[in-house]
Amino acid sequence: MMTFSVTQVRVAFECPRLFYVNYHFRGQTLFVPTDYSKGLGTLFYQLAEKLIYTAKHNSQFTKLFLPESEQLDVEEITLRIQQLFYKLVFFPIIKKDIQQNNSKLIHIYYQVWQGIIQLIGHWVTLLIKNRSFCQPDVLLKKTFTAEEIRLEHIFTLPNENQIKLIGRLDSLIYDFQKRRYCVVEYKTYQPSDLAAQLAQVALYSYMLKKTKSIATPVNSSVQQVLPTFQEYYYAWEDLENTVYQLIPHKLQQMQNWIKWQQNTLNPPPTAIKSHLCEICPQQATCQQFFIEQL
Ligand code: SF4
Repeated sequence: MMTFSVTQVRVAFECPRLFYVNYHFRGQTLFVPTDYSKGLGTLFYQLAEKLIYTAKHNSQFTKLFLPESEQLDVEEITLRIQQLFYKLVFFPIIKKDIQQNNSKLIHIYYQVWQGIIQLIGHWVTLLIKNRSFCQPDVLLKKTFTAEEIRLEHIFTLPNENQIKLIGRLDSLIYDFQKRRYCVVEYKTYQPSDLAAQLAQVALYSYMLKKTKSIATPVNSSVQQVLPTFQEYYYAWEDLENTVYQLIPHKLQQMQNWIKWQQNTLNPPPTAIKSHLCEICPQQATCQQFFIEQL
């Protein structure tokens, strides 16, 4: 059975040719600004994960939420969590590079820290709301349900073929007020094609609900942390009749696109949004590879 990753589906939504090039030859697929620092995304994901782990396992974080919900102040707790995380995790990591005056890495750390600060503020708002529904000793563990969940689901296509889809979601949180789980995907840059990001996060919510047999609907959130915090939030109901129904058709297209041979008719189409070509990491490869078809 053929296997695709959720990331490949996102790329196929962005540009079928980029999906083809990456499927056969690998290489970069991110549409990021030209001044985007390499390695920033990976470092951010690692630190966001460490932050959640530390907060769940260190009682100093729990103590911040001891008062009742109405007595908790977002700004004050955000500042305290920033200080704790800086002292316990962030500074020990960056210390050596600061001492060696590694300016390139220091610049990346600075950007990552700005992203982490934004994320902490957003999380604290949710934690304070959740505090009305649960005790401080379980608040963090029940809000940050899981990180890095690996998912796998078999889709049946319109042509009756089956495709296995695999993926790994960044984070799963629980909102007590909404009584719902929400899958979260972090972005360290402004997405160039929101529809494609939506497809990715929607797939995670769909696969999570199917594979983990979650009874309630699962919402989806894309959290852009840089250059400024922006959340794109989608309720399950918004996706149910749109994205979820598009997926089997898209997988069938992907199955057909990868079979295409150079110098034959009907190559995979170009990106619908032509501005993507200007910032495409595979522009040169694409122009050389598909030149015969122009
Ligand atoms: S250059 Fe444009 S058409 Fe070619 S792979 Fe990149 S985004 Fe797609």
